Amino acid sequence: MGTLLEVTVYRPAGEDAAATADLRAAYEAIAEVDRRMSLYRDDSELSALNDTAGSGPVGASPALLEVLQAARRYGSLSRGAFDVTVEPLVQVWGLYFFERDELPAATQIEAARRRVGHHRIRLDVEAGTVGLEEGTHVDLGAIAKGYAVDRALARLSERGVPAALLDLGGNIGVLGTPPGESSWEIGVRHPRDTDSLLGSLRLDPGRSVATTGDYERFVEIDGERYAHVIDPRSGWPVRGIFAVTVVAPDGIAADALSTAAYVLGPRDGMALLEACAGVEGLVVTPAAENESAGLRVELTSGLLEDAPRFAASDAPGTEIMRWRGDAGDWPDDCQAASRP
Ligand code: AMP
Ligand code: MG
Repeated sequence: MGTLLEVTVYRPAGEDAAATADLRAAYEAIAEVDRRMSLYRDDSELSALNDTAGSGPVGASPALLEVLQAARRYGSLSRGAFDVTVEPLVQVWGLYFFERDELPAATQIEAARRRVGHHRIRLDVEAGTVGLEEGTHVDLGAIAKGYAVDRALARLSERGVPAALLDLGGNIGVLGTPPGESSWEIGVRHPRDTDSLLGSLRLDPGRSVATTGDYERFVEIDGERYAHVIDPRSGWPVRGIFAVTVVAPDGIAADALSTAAYVLGPRDGMALLEACAGVEGLVVTPAAENESAGLRVELTSGLLEDAPRFAASDAPGTEIMRWRGDAGDWPDDCQAASRP
């Protein structure tokens, strides 16, 4: 999946061999998802599916069907901001291998845009098949990491692991709590000074966190940064937002919603997170038009009320505030989107 995996497992003293086997089991669970859903390998089930565009439908594994189904639900929940058919646009912008140094022509963007849209995936869950329209390619990069973390945690839980933390490229899931603690402390990275933290989140057992940001995967064209997330409505990479971090009941929800909120932007994205039951989040934006003027961090109410769940690290030039936007009419039942 083109990213790093970090696994932490706690076991009582003397269970070193079991802990080593735990790490291997977690890795294997992630590798299985990678073999099915990565676009960075030609032999994945997803790459093979993309090759059938225009000639399907073809049979798909239960895992791939489950993730495609969830992807479709997050697509409609986010009113099209989240769209796993963006592959042609990611390609046009050179965002798989970060190789582009000039803007794509408007005609190229337009041609790619015509190949994008959830309706171009025909999913038949009963029959277990998927058909892609001519020219349509699926990229699960915004949702498969969260799903993989969920699978690996389920594996660790079956093995009787009392406490564990998985971090797959910023998609974090936990099991239990570390010895002597009642929650986990998760650092939220500064989007420019990436060795330091903006603050930390207190994460309860069984909850997941995901971050979508512009600071790890991007291309630079004429001194401007274009990050790896595309607004499918415009065909352009999303601008003007540093990062969104989401806390959700499972990894797949955190992953999909962080990408969705990032595309929707600080106003609508935060409104969606605020509306979703069981979901919290924060958005990091430039405090002023000039990026170097500092950062603004806005948090959903649930991270501040009752027991505060975000502790700021006093990074210089950072304003921390409660999000106070217009709620809009976003649905609250986001969790239904992750359920198979
Ligand atoms: P994430 O890091 O989870 O936000 O996922 C970003 C990745 O998802 C990108 O590297 C693309 O491969 C893909 N992607 C880009 N834009 C979108 C989008 N609007 N909806 C779904 N996936 C996207
Ligand atoms: Mg995501």
